[in-house]
Order: sequence, then C-alpha cells, then structure tokens
Amino acid sequence: MSESDPSSESENCVSDRISQIVRDIPRSGIRDFFELVQAKGDVISLGVGEPDFSTPWHIREAIIRSLERGQTSYTSNLGMPKLRELIAEYVESFFGVKYDAKEEVIITVGVSEALDLAFRALLDPGDEVIYHEPCYVSYSPTIVMAHGRPVPVATRPEDGFSLRASDVASAISEKTKVVVLNFPTNPTGAVQPLAELEAIARLIVKHDLFCITDEIYSELRYDIQTGDPHVSIASLPGMRERTILLHGFSKAYAMTGLRLGYACAPHAIVEAMMRIHQYSMLCAPITSQVGAIEALENGAGPVEEMRKSYEVRRNLFLQGMKEIGLPCFTPGGAFYAFPDIRKTGLSSAEFCVQLLEEENIAVVPGSAFGATGEGFVRCCYATAPDLLEKALDGIRRFVASRS
Ligand code: PMP
Repeated sequence: MSESDPSSESENCVSDRISQIVRDIPRSGIRDFFELVQAKGDVISLGVGEPDFSTPWHIREAIIRSLERGQTSYTSNLGMPKLRELIAEYVESFFGVKYDAKEEVIITVGVSEALDLAFRALLDPGDEVIYHEPCYVSYSPTIVMAHGRPVPVATRPEDGFSLRASDVASAISEKTKVVVLNFPTNPTGAVQPLAELEAIARLIVKHDLFCITDEIYSELRYDIQTGDPHVSIASLPGMRERTILLHGFSKAYAMTGLRLGYACAPHAIVEAMMRIHQYSMLCAPITSQVGAIEALENGAGPVEEMRKSYEVRRNLFLQGMKEIGLPCFTPGGAFYAFPDIRKTGLSSAEFCVQLLEEENIAVVPGSAFGATGEGFVRCCYATAPDLLEKALDGIRRFVASRS
C-alpha cells in the first residue's frame, strides 16, 4: 500500500491544473528574501520600498471624518468627479499636460492596478513591450499576464542607470507596441537626462508606438539646482496622444496602504481601461479617494518636508557608502540607493543573505530587479537616521570582513 499522503497528492493534482501562464511566472525575488527577513525578526530593514512616515495627519483626519459621516459607498467607476478634477489640475501644473477630468482620468487601486489595466488595454498576444532594467519587479509578470512579450533593455551604472535612446532603437522590432519608462527609477533612483528623453520620444513617434510612463516617484527629486520641474515624456511633442501617464499617492504622500493611483490618457485608452476596471475592481475605495482629495488640496507642504528629509538621508547614506568603499552613483530621485557590491566577490543574493545572517540588516538583491541588477543591492534609505547609521556600521563591518 502506498504511504503517500493523500492530502498532498490532491494538492499536487490541483497545482497541475493551475493556469500554465501563472505557473510560468517566477516568484518575486523580493518575496523570497522577505520570508527570510520575517523568520529572523529584529532586523534593521532597508528592504521595503515605502516611506517610513505615516500618512500626514490632515489626510488621516479627512478620512476619519468621512467614515464618521458614513461615506462608505461605491463611487463612479472612473472615480469621484471632484478627485478627477483635482488630478487633472495637478497633472497640468506639475507635468504640464492637460487632460479632460471627465473622460481622460481614471482612478485605480494603486499604480499597480493602473499598470495592469494599461497593459491589458493595449496588448494583443505576442506584442512586445520595451522597458529599462533593473526595474520594478512587477513590469515583466504584468506584461506576461496581459499576453505580451517583455523586452528588457539594460541600463548601466556609468550612465547613472538612465536609458540610452540608442539602446531603445536597437530593441524596437515590428512587434513592438509599447515603451515603459519609470524615472525616477525603482530600484536605482535614476533620473533621465532631457536630451535622451527627447530622443526616445522621437523614436516612439517615428515607430508609432505607445508609451506608459510610471511617474510614481516624480515628486521625490533631488539636486534640482536650476529649479527645473521634473519632465514627463507625456509633455514632449507628439507624445500626449500616445502616452498613458500613471501616478499615485503611495510614495509622495506616504499612502501605500490606502492603495490609490490613477491613469491619464486620451479618451479611447481610458475607456478601454475602464472596460476592464468596471468588472475587475468596480471602483477604487471611497475612503482612499477622500484621502486623496485632501492630499491634493492641502498636501504640498508635507510632501516637501518628506522630500527634504529623504534628501538628508540620501546624503547620509551616500557618504557612508563612500567611507565603506562601495561604489554608488548619486541617485537623483525616489528613496533608493543602488551600491555596487562586486568588490566583495559575492553575488547580490549571497551578499544579502550573509548580511542578514551576520548583521541583522536587510537590503534587497539587485538580481530581484532583473538580470542586469546582479552585482548591486537596493537600499531603501527611507529609514530613521539612527537606524540608517546602525545599518551603515553593520555594512562597514561586513564589507571589511570580505575585503
Ligand atoms: N511603480 C513603481 C516603480 C513602484 O516602485 C511601485 C511600488 N513599489 C509601484 C509602481 C506600485 O505602487 P502602488 O502602491 O501605487 O500600487
């Protein structure tokens, strides 16, 4: 008689019948690593990519008041009209691109849902999507789940991980449909030089492609000596009609758990995204939409305070890296640094696992952000300065023991 466990047999049988597309999607390298971190406990984490601030109090207060009023219904599928108007005003003043609040703005459950909707709205099976790598972990699987083909283009430390137009040109084929941009970039903190952005825009127009620009870190820019605002590709000539501009409240307003984002695009694209959203999500949570209204009406001051605080910590972290002797280019935005750990002779996964075991410090292997991230680790410096100092001490000891 077989000794095998019948429950595990039936579990195997179920796993075999899960969609092949889903089975082929690799587990996120970040998730694997964080299971190790959680098992350890008492860790200084430079791992999770989120602000260490709570949502500013005036936003929480607006949310509490709306709950007291019993504001707990569905909203229109596209989102509350007042929020869409405020978003259209904000996008026009911040990015210099005008959208019609009624027809060209859709409120989503984070930029995550907006990305999913954008790919599903644009892609037919086999369409290729170009994006720069190392990049946010969800681009490739979200493209695959929309039946597209991911085409990563490597960025280089010597370019500050910005994207060369010539590399985009080489990656374009007759199957290319979309180019995805994310500046400032997760995980590198890279920003894009204007001349290269303009050259990429010309390529996109010339080849009649779409662009998805993930602007989630746009407010978190540093070293803007000239006072120039952040430039979105959507504002460049010929781009508005072919671009989906994605943005949200998670990072700049420290609202990650409230799950609120939006997409601005020409009406036909928003309408296509709406067709999916109305059935899959119905609408974004009203409570978070109320918070977002307050954020846009009164949130500029707290955003600037948080930005300044990240800048101080970025400088502290970079100084630490210099003293430790790990090369690290100066990130122009977001709240990540991406030091080069190759001199330790360890792979990025080995570096992170051993640093965690020996020093109780969590940073994320660069390889989790694509093959081109190997040799680097992502450090989120949105962490209290005293913990950041302790983390630097631990990394210093660790690197010295490996040199
Ligand atoms: N895009 C990028 C580049 C991100 O880093 C993240 C979150 N880490 C997201 C999108 C998703 O953000 P949201 O919380 O709005 O879903």
